[in-house]
Amino acid sequence: MILSNWINGEACNTSESMENINPRNGKEINRVPITPASDVDRAVEAAEKAWVKWAKQTPQIRAAVLNKIADGIQDRFEEFVAAESIDTGKPEALARSVDIPRSISNFRFFAGEIQHQTSSFHPMEGAINYTLRRPVGVAALITPWNLPLYLLTWKVAPALGMGNAVVVKPSEITPTTATLLGEVCKTAGLPDGLFNLVHGPGNPTGSALVSHPKVNAVSFTGGTETGRLVAAAAAPQFKKLSLELGGKNPTIVFADSNLEKAAIGAARAAFLNQGQICLCGSRILVEDSVSERFTNLLVKEAIRLKDTLGSLISTSHRAKVHSYVEAAIVDGGEVLCGGKNFGPQDGAYYEPTVITGLKHSCRTVQEEIFGPVVTINSFQNEAEATELANDVQFGLAASIWTKDLEKAHRVAANVESGMVWVNTWLKRDLRVPFGGLKQSGVGREGGAWSLSFFSEPRNICIAISDSVDGD
Ligand code: NAD
Repeated sequence: MILSNWINGEACNTSESMENINPRNGKEINRVPITPASDVDRAVEAAEKAWVKWAKQTPQIRAAVLNKIADGIQDRFEEFVAAESIDTGKPEALARSVDIPRSISNFRFFAGEIQHQTSSFHPMEGAINYTLRRPVGVAALITPWNLPLYLLTWKVAPALGMGNAVVVKPSEITPTTATLLGEVCKTAGLPDGLFNLVHGPGNPTGSALVSHPKVNAVSFTGGTETGRLVAAAAAPQFKKLSLELGGKNPTIVFADSNLEKAAIGAARAAFLNQGQICLCGSRILVEDSVSERFTNLLVKEAIRLKDTLGSLISTSHRAKVHSYVEAAIVDGGEVLCGGKNFGPQDGAYYEPTVITGLKHSCRTVQEEIFGPVVTINSFQNEAEATELANDVQFGLAASIWTKDLEKAHRVAANVESGMVWVNTWLKRDLRVPFGGLKQSGVGREGGAWSLSFFSEPRNICIAISDSVDGD
């Protein structure tokens, strides 16, 4: 079966397609269109025609449609769970408890947010100013494979909510739930042309979309190297750009923390979704005096978690992950557990892996692996912990484990990271700013930040005195 694109409210096909492989057994699930630039053009044209009328609808009307889309996903919940799980290799239990519920919440949350916006007002001598928010028009939304529907809906909901039309390009290796979302949008009564879906790889599909002159905003989530290409393509046309990129996030464990809880939290941060979450804590920094005790607890937890993990996204990705473990061994690292495949012969499973004994400058410690591999380095004091935490090119997320609240505040303020958790990890409130510093991205998503990205503020200044002069 070939999955459909959605253009102007119609499911449509392309002449060329590629395999979508089940990473649990290497078998084909379905085929994915390779959308050529000409069809990307049709999708953008449809979006451009559709958004103007939609933008004139009240937030209440738009919110009602977003809530109907949420209902539509809820009605087909198990179908979405099965599709997400088979495309990604993640356990159904994870798709059922995280991916699909969160996708529904994204629509419900932004349905609420768009109805509760306020506008700024700046009185001045002789005049008043007020600010209107208007849609940006056509937004291109490009997403990765690790949390396919979760991340796609995190962009689709605020973009549509603010009165835009979207052309989405999900990852070509996890395409199925996006096609289902197209069906749900149609039955939910979203006007044609507002949700357009073009499947396919970065080239030709993604690059044609990013560089299309009628796309006004690009919201991209993916790897840092791809982000660079997207930024370079968008820059000459001054498109509005949001980039959510890679991470190499520190988990900082102080001696005064509850070590048992810290080990369980650190293992969850390292291995959830097989370590394939941009926020994963793949770099553990532990205070020297408790390093041995903590490491033993972590290894025990890593071994316990093995049976709960799904497969990685593909066997080629697993080979990349394993190459970092091999590099670590060459660099003098000790693999305390994991470091090998498990499960069915043709599945892309890899054991949770803990590595110690590496210098902080090694590739395995510095680069994003995006798999179930965590390194441990120790520190002597708070200053060294902060220095090591900041000694990477990324700055997405961090978690700090300590019972000393003053220390937690100090370290949190000094860690170069867009998001910091203390004594927890991945606790998410959809209102807060989400995004990274340094090579982890540009801009923020979440609550008001998403609404701001998908709209343009326009100031209106009205004279209230007799003077007509400006200055
Ligand atoms: P990727 O960069 O390979 O691909 C992301 C998307 O970009 C895919 O849809 C892909 O087809 C598309 N793409 C590729 N080349 C393109 C081009 N030239 N123009 C336009 N689009 C193009 O990333 P991936 O391997 O799918 O995902 C893993 C990466 O995503 C990791 O680095 C991870 O950290 C990152 N990620 C970041 C966040 C975040 O919020 N910061 C969240 C999830 C994943």
